[in-house]
Amino acid sequence: MQFPRRIAIFGSTGSIGTQALEVIAAHPDLFEVTVLTAWKNADLLIRQAVQFQPRLVVIGEEQLYNQVKNELQQRGIRVLAGISGLEEAAAEDLYDIHIAAIVGFAGLKPTLSAIKQGKTIALANKETLVVAGEWVMQAVKNYQARIIPVDSEHSAIFQCLEGEQHNRIEKIILTASGGPFLGKKPNFLVNVKKDHALQHPNWRMGEKITIDSSSLMNKGLEMIEARWLFDLQPDQIEVVIHPQSVIHSLIQFEDGSLKAQLGLPDMKLPIQYALCYPHRIANNFPRFSFRQYPALSFETPDIKTFRNLAIAMDVLRKGGNAACVMNAANEEAVCAFLKNQIGFLDMSDVIEQTLEKVSFIPHPSLADYEESDRLARQYAQLFIDKIQRRN
Ligand code: NAD
Ligand code: MG
Repeated sequence: MQFPRRIAIFGSTGSIGTQALEVIAAHPDLFEVTVLTAWKNADLLIRQAVQFQPRLVVIGEEQLYNQVKNELQQRGIRVLAGISGLEEAAAEDLYDIHIAAIVGFAGLKPTLSAIKQGKTIALANKETLVVAGEWVMQAVKNYQARIIPVDSEHSAIFQCLEGEQHNRIEKIILTASGGPFLGKKPNFLVNVKKDHALQHPNWRMGEKITIDSSSLMNKGLEMIEARWLFDLQPDQIEVVIHPQSVIHSLIQFEDGSLKAQLGLPDMKLPIQYALCYPHRIANNFPRFSFRQYPALSFETPDIKTFRNLAIAMDVLRKGGNAACVMNAANEEAVCAFLKNQIGFLDMSDVIEQTLEKVSFIPHPSLADYEESDRLARQYAQLFIDKIQRRN
């Protein structure tokens, strides 16, 4: 792929989206922004569009369409709205790389739309692979699309695989910071509130992934993401707690050799790598210093306390629509926790109970995934209501 590359950012107003724009702004000779989308932050979307002059902008929330259109159409920027607008924009031949930076299940359809165009996807939205990984990877093959991971652990594995195409992976080891509650036990977690859970020690991210990191669900989602992305068996994927977040992940090859990718915790690095692949380009990001990190440490995750990770490991082995159901229940549970409707530990209960209710489908179609997602959200909401009545 030649430079300059035309970039579409789906979810441009979020944590990944805004950092992607910083990377792009630092290299105006290499990149041109052609599509920007947001759900409801119309003001920021308009400011981004005025600065980067894309060809097309989509606002998800349809009530905000007129506001966005009135500001941007006079500047020669096309404006679409709604979920259909997102899919339509992803299907247009306006870009070379689709940055999938929408959060949650909502990212699946626009990403599939881009895959069907045979595009390169810089994938941050892990839920796409969690929900329908087998299906998505088959579509990537069928349409000769390509996925380059942005999630830092998967970017690390992807980078370690360069030049190793013919060598078998024995296993991969995903590192996890452990989040703000590392070492805590249920008697502490039962009382934690969202403000505490939102204080991640190493990363500044959107609210959903920050809560997922504090409950270790994020690492569970990442195990499932890795299974599909790198075509691994569930028992080839391990997790180790590494509180400094300097080693971003490791591969162990058949000869026992371990290869790792290291760096400061900064999402701009994997974002830049995905946008420039296979090239590396100079930047002025802060550099790693051994003086700042005299020791790197490792420990086994406590999956008895952080039950979400144990649930995700089961779901990873089970396959079928189980991960889709777990993901939907988790999205509802996180949303309820963020509204102080349920407690931290209740999130695992909601997910477990939902998994028991929704029928298992071993080989789901795309329609099955959508129906499983819908049903799981309904059940999860019932359990959330029950917990609220109890409290
Ligand atoms: P965020 O909440 O900061 O941003 C989400 C973006 O998606 C916003 O632009 C928002 O307008 C848009 N959006 C939200 N709901 C939508 C919907 N229903 N339809 C269409 N658009 C919608 O989230 P984030 O932290 O940037 O994370 C984005 C994705 O990247 C997530 O899947 C997350 O797991 C993944 N990720 C994030 C980080 C990080 O450092 N933030 C790291 C690794 C992976
Ligand atoms: Mg990650």
